[in-house]
Amino acid sequence: MYDKFHEECGVVAISGHPEAAKLAYLGLYSLQHRGQESAGICTTDGDEIFCHKSMGHVADIFTSPVLGTLPGELAIGHTRYSTAGDTVLLNAQPFSVSCNKGRVAVAHNGNITNVAELRAHLGRLGSIFQASSDTEVILHLIAHSSERTLAGALREALLQLEGAFSLVFLAQDRIIVARDPHGFRPLAVGEMEFSGGRKCHVFASETCAFDLIGAVYLNDVEPGEMVIVGPEGVNRERWAPKQALSQCVFEHVYFSRPDSIVFGRAVEESRENLGRLLARECPADADLVVPVPDSGVAAAIGYSAESGLPFRQALIRNHYVGRTFIEPSQAIRDFGVKLKLNPVRHLLQGQRVVLVDDSIVRGTTSRKIVRMVRQAGAREVHLRISCPPTVSPCFYGVDTPTRSELIASNHSVEEIRRFVEADSLGYLSLASLRKAVADDRHEYCYACYTGDYPTDLVNIEELISARQKRR
Ligand code: AMP
Repeated sequence: MYDKFHEECGVVAISGHPEAAKLAYLGLYSLQHRGQESAGICTTDGDEIFCHKSMGHVADIFTSPVLGTLPGELAIGHTRYSTAGDTVLLNAQPFSVSCNKGRVAVAHNGNITNVAELRAHLGRLGSIFQASSDTEVILHLIAHSSERTLAGALREALLQLEGAFSLVFLAQDRIIVARDPHGFRPLAVGEMEFSGGRKCHVFASETCAFDLIGAVYLNDVEPGEMVIVGPEGVNRERWAPKQALSQCVFEHVYFSRPDSIVFGRAVEESRENLGRLLARECPADADLVVPVPDSGVAAAIGYSAESGLPFRQALIRNHYVGRTFIEPSQAIRDFGVKLKLNPVRHLLQGQRVVLVDDSIVRGTTSRKIVRMVRQAGAREVHLRISCPPTVSPCFYGVDTPTRSELIASNHSVEEIRRFVEADSLGYLSLASLRKAVADDRHEYCYACYTGDYPTDLVNIEELISARQKRR
């Protein structure tokens, strides 16, 4: 329920459709949950690159007149979170430049972990940066490459990057997409048929974007793979040797939409499994199961099915909370949470409640929700969390706060229980999380639960201080 997270993003790319901008817009509309601070689309008519980006929600930014300024059959789009106080619009994506490889635009989901070294190196070579985002660095690496083609320069650039990246590029005559060799962030490949049996190629962070535009999900861009869609057709090639996979498990726990297929797996299935396993590991002597909407719904359904306790939507979320609202000048206690959630007293009065949510980060929101349920008449509140304690920050594209702010990194489960004022608190074990996503081959990243990072984080101090500065 945090409002302001940066780095978390959604990307789309459309190749070969006369209404590419409109499809990109619809794709972004479905990916709005991945970032609500700014959005942008770039298109090309084969000559110029046209761009529009702005702060705000996709549906408010892309009006008909705006979409009318984005002609051409190729488009990429991006939606992102960012922090207040940042030079936000400058960091909005896609980034578009004219360089020695032609006109290019890029949008990025993830986090490049060696960005500080790359910036310093490029700065010494004379590069000037406009934004504080990682993504601009990629464009400078492309411009500095001695390779003649964009794909060649891109290959060279990507080999210098470390960390997480699912990227979509737009050039005058082609779309290129690529994924880091660990496959941290998702990137799905789809196809859509339109008038006269013509086919167009689409790419998106999540398959829910395909459903809205009527595209069919084919597979994923492989980790370490690049897909080029140009005048010569579609070309899929490896740009990096195979490495151990580290797909982000948090996409299945919280971040992706439950109607998406992510890393080839239905998110809803994973979440219901999480809830079922949680019910087995952390049962509760209670009367009903209540989800924290929307993040706890699927796990609560699983918990209810496994435990036999009835599922009740006793917290109602206002889905229309806008960015601007008039707060009363006289502070109302817990106003922020009340604005979003309201308890159904009639369901809660005198009941022993199992409250299911996906995670506790700082603990402050969870405490407000536990209080809210109790004040609405619940006799007992048993909080159940559908993943292990979040003990370490993510450097691969999910903006968890620093370790000192993560309540589980320096408190025991019993201390957290006391802080959130629950009668009992239970977390899912790591083994069960692994089981819920069917990770038999160790293909997921669990660093936020283990502190065991799958890549070298050479400049971890710099990464942390850069993050703090951007807050
Ligand atoms: P808190 O109790 O303050 O730690 O907040 C917990 C709430 O934050 C839960 O409802 C989660 O669904 C939500 N949450 C967890 N991780 C994130 C994230 N990366 N971005 C946005 N919200 C999150």
